[in-house]
Amino acid sequence: MNDSHPDALSPGIGDASFSFEAASSTVPLISVRDLAIHYPVGGGLFTKGMVVRAAEGIDLDIPRGAFYGLVGESGSGKTTLGRALLKATPITRGSIHFDDGEVSYELAELGKAELKDYRKRAQLIFQDPYAALSPRMTVRDIIAEPLEVMKITKTRAETDERVREIAAKCRLNLEHLRRFPHAFSGGQRQRISIARALVANPRFVVADEAVAALDVSIQADVLNLLKTLQEDLGLTLLFISHDLSVVAHTCDHVAVMYLGRLVESAPTRRLFAGPRHPYTKALLSAIPSLDPDHHSKAQKLTGEIPSPANPPPGCKFHTRCPYAVEICKTEEPPLEQTPDHHMVKCHRWKELLYVS
Ligand code: SF4
Repeated sequence: MNDSHPDALSPGIGDASFSFEAASSTVPLISVRDLAIHYPVGGGLFTKGMVVRAAEGIDLDIPRGAFYGLVGESGSGKTTLGRALLKATPITRGSIHFDDGEVSYELAELGKAELKDYRKRAQLIFQDPYAALSPRMTVRDIIAEPLEVMKITKTRAETDERVREIAAKCRLNLEHLRRFPHAFSGGQRQRISIARALVANPRFVVADEAVAALDVSIQADVLNLLKTLQEDLGLTLLFISHDLSVVAHTCDHVAVMYLGRLVESAPTRRLFAGPRHPYTKALLSAIPSLDPDHHSKAQKLTGEIPSPANPPPGCKFHTRCPYAVEICKTEEPPLEQTPDHHMVKCHRWKELLYVS
């Protein structure tokens, strides 16, 4: 694994720029403590009575104004965590606290009126721009719907003004507002989805694999737009992705999830320059590179992620970790802070510091 400079790690979209440690505040907008999300499953691939542990023991602070990346393979629990932060899925244990400076909410204790208010403040950008937009509604009506449902605007003229304003910010023009979604490309549809998510002027946005369905060239365009909007509107954005190279382009901080646990988090530059957890190292190593030597140095991640309904004991990564020792099989490692500001969940992170 190349541990020297992050620019050496990845071509493609990750080459465009590394924003690294950006100007977000240190005051958290979202604070998560000891969060667990379990749900019962039965039938299909699962034995009746089994419990899926989608998230377990999550501690996380998302600073106000951050472009925060959440990365992991399919089945790592990142989408479930994102939905919990929007209060779109029930939690089993722990707490999620939201504080944007105007209001302060403990999500588990929201009353009806507070929940209504929270829905305005926290929004979701969907992954699939084709499925997310009703084919029977004009772009104007799609973007206006949250304003009307949440009764944010009082007159049609007021709604139209707000729709035009956010459409312009999302690089849609007046002519676009009269058309139906089928007339647009994937990138344009995702800009419509973004406008719809932002029209109610939220403070927190979860973008769940928001560019995964787009071509690479369009991904860069939509990512740049998201970054511009996040900075201009002072948003806090949680960007969920399975692709670390996409996260490198825009995020100022990255957290890595594996089987329902946060295994590492750090400012983006530090994470890319010196990952501390073997899983993060393997994910970084899997990013394609134009360096002909990279392939031989790459750490291959073998095997499948275990089932969250039947997680292994000890460190959840031990079944795939090339550095696993006896203790890894029996004791779950604590989340520890390293001197260079990573949070890492690995028994051996100190020993592995200089292993490349
Ligand atoms: Fe690998 Fe052990 Fe660290 Fe888990 S605790 S990541 S198995 S070395």
